[in-house]
Amino acid sequence: MDAAVVVKDEVVAPEQQRSGAGRSLQPPERRSVKRAEAQEPAAEFADLYQRLAAPFDSTFKDIRGGVELEYITGEQCVSRLNEVLGVAGWSFRILEHGIHAEADEAWVLGELTASFGGALVTRQQFGSQKIKRSRSSGTPLDIGFDLKGAATDALKKCASLLGVGLYLSRKEAPEAANGATNGHAHGQANGVTAAEPERLVCDVCGEELRETRFRDGTVWTPLQLAGYGRRKHSRTLCMTHYREANDARRRAEVTLEEMPF
Ligand SMILES: [Zn+2]
Repeated sequence: MDAAVVVKDEVVAPEQQRSGAGRSLQPPERRSVKRAEAQEPAAEFADLYQRLAAPFDSTFKDIRGGVELEYITGEQCVSRLNEVLGVAGWSFRILEHGIHAEADEAWVLGELTASFGGALVTRQQFGSQKIKRSRSSGTPLDIGFDLKGAATDALKKCASLLGVGLYLSRKEAPEAANGATNGHAHGQANGVTAAEPERLVCDVCGEELRETRFRDGTVWTPLQLAGYGRRKHSRTLCMTHYREANDARRRAEVTLEEMPF
């Protein structure tokens, strides 16, 4: 433990000087372990925490089971840790991982260790991601990618325990405050636990879903398209196959209407 702290101090100090103009940085001597622990540790911790937990300029939204989730990407999470704690001020490792056949998910138990105002703190969390499979053969397309996604999910959850993006997990979503009275959805509105945006692949042709622009200027993101496909046809569909499925349903409905009984 001591060795890790010393290494951290040696490595972090030059970086602090290099970017010393940044709001988040203090003179190197103030970050030394002894002083952080001996002098005003509360103030130091509060300041660090504020910077870790600060809101993000941009977030992403996804709809899961009809609930809008707000989340940050793995990149945003890593950048926040790097900027606030320093590149040498934190580390993440995978303690366990596996593939859960029934859930068809890759899962990871991750551990984040951070030098928090001189004290080393450790947090552990699980992360998961659905396995992406070839539509035709059912073979996993890229297990490494699935495990990486699960690891990123675990990292974001660990980091949220240190405040990063934690505000996104608040039960009361901003929209919910103005009028939505049946609060059935809020319990799941946990932005931090939302996995990395999935690589969305059409269940029919295996093509990755793309952004679609309509003549009237409307844009459907891949996530929206996937959401519509799942809701209407219980499948993830590219625009071509989404339209095909719509047409097929329309034909089926017409056929039904034309039936004499
Ligand atoms: Zn397709």
